[in-house]
Amino acid sequence: MKKQIAVIGLEMHCELKSNSKVFSSARNSYSEIPNTNIAPLDMAFPGTLPVVNKKCVEDALKMSIVLNCKQPEYMFFDRKNYYYPDLPKGYQITQMTNPVGTCGKIEIEVNDQLIPVHIHDIHLEEDSASLDHFFDTSNIDYNRSGIPLLELVTEPCFHSANEAVAFLEHMRRVYQYCDISEADTKKGQIRCDVNVSIMDEDATELGTKVEIKNVNSFGGVHDAIVYEIERQMKLKEEGRYNEVEQETRRWDEETASTIRMRSKVDAIDYKYFVEPNIPKYKISKEWIEEIKGKIPRLHLERKQDYINNYGLSSYDAEILVKDKEISDYFEECLALEIDAKSASNWITTQILGYINKNSLTINDLYLNPKRLKDLIDELNKGSISTKQAKEIFLKVIEEKKEVKDFINKDNAQISNKDELTKIIDEILANNQSQIEEYKNGRTNIFDYFVGQVMKQTRGKANPVLTKEILTEKLK
Ligand code: ADP
Ligand code: MG
Repeated sequence: MKKQIAVIGLEMHCELKSNSKVFSSARNSYSEIPNTNIAPLDMAFPGTLPVVNKKCVEDALKMSIVLNCKQPEYMFFDRKNYYYPDLPKGYQITQMTNPVGTCGKIEIEVNDQLIPVHIHDIHLEEDSASLDHFFDTSNIDYNRSGIPLLELVTEPCFHSANEAVAFLEHMRRVYQYCDISEADTKKGQIRCDVNVSIMDEDATELGTKVEIKNVNSFGGVHDAIVYEIERQMKLKEEGRYNEVEQETRRWDEETASTIRMRSKVDAIDYKYFVEPNIPKYKISKEWIEEIKGKIPRLHLERKQDYINNYGLSSYDAEILVKDKEISDYFEECLALEIDAKSASNWITTQILGYINKNSLTINDLYLNPKRLKDLIDELNKGSISTKQAKEIFLKVIEEKKEVKDFINKDNAQISNKDELTKIIDEILANNQSQIEEYKNGRTNIFDYFVGQVMKQTRGKANPVLTKEILTEKLK
């Protein structure tokens, strides 16, 4: 058999943040109690009409811009008609003819290499209600009905489970950086359909694709792809590739396998048509420009900046850009002219260690960049040792005080050359025989002198300066 390559395309759904739903005034927020965040429209009561939520359109356009897509001149929606109990209207309002973004392209990082990803389109639509099935009944919760969803469809451009998951991870961060979704898979905010096929290495046509519907964790996406590639490869090896059918399967966590749901041949005809209750309207150039101005620098750009312009390692830069809040904190430090490496060291070790241990976010931390600067300044001046700085770090946070409140004469490091010279002179005057020994070649006695200075100053002598003065005096 010829060498095979896997081909994967993703359809990623992401719930957007907003005060109200995409076409109604009900709250868009998670609720434990079913059927509390609903407006008559979400239940398709007669006479109700959709009103477009401008913020959702704006956020959809934001993503369209970030993904380097083409934006349409006009905004309008389509009806996708089908019946299911979680869809009381009998249709979903979505975008088919005129999505908010088409023909996009971005680069993502996979194993420290950049690879291109081609975006077919992104479109804004509404979520359905959710169903809970029991032994002999099913419950419907309309809280999810009408929550804004952004569906992103890639070209079949991935060739491994790792690449596909790297893309999802990349997008999760983009959503978070742009502040348009928490993109939390645990809250069901991201759901994916995964399309998988295999083909001969030198083939010019793609193989038959299998669609795996509604995978709701990145681990699931990874495992489903690996499983499906193997299943198709095995059939091909056995000369049974004709059994790979264009079909819809689902990922079953329990058996860690994909299970056939239905053939694509009996796919439903959705009888799309333009949604008549939402007038089309022009997307102005000015609006697009205004939205561009609201897009922050994204994680990859920041990471490359930290490596290339601030000399950080790729490892540290990656830690700093993992969360926008942390990256923003670091950039505030840079704006205060804290040395990039010191700031990075403090953040990646002490600060992250502290906030992780105490389940805080960096914005909750009393030690803001300004206070971190005070601390690093004292350290650089030599008025405190590294050990003391770490203690003061904790005291500032826990007692909610300023760094200067913990810098006093008692614990300050002795870095004054004259003061230290005086102490050293005294010690040397009392250790004449040791000086003789030292001068006769017992140079390891040097540490004895350092020890005496430390003893005398109760550990507060600046060690570097102490050694400097001693070396000079013992010449
Ligand atoms: P459909 O008509 O079934 O919706 P599309 O061509 O619109 O199929 O593609 C849907 C998704 O399937 C896209 O993400 C696309 O990248 C992916 N896809 C299309 N063809 C293949 C293939 N041969 N192998 C893997 N993925 C594919
Ligand atoms: Mg869709």
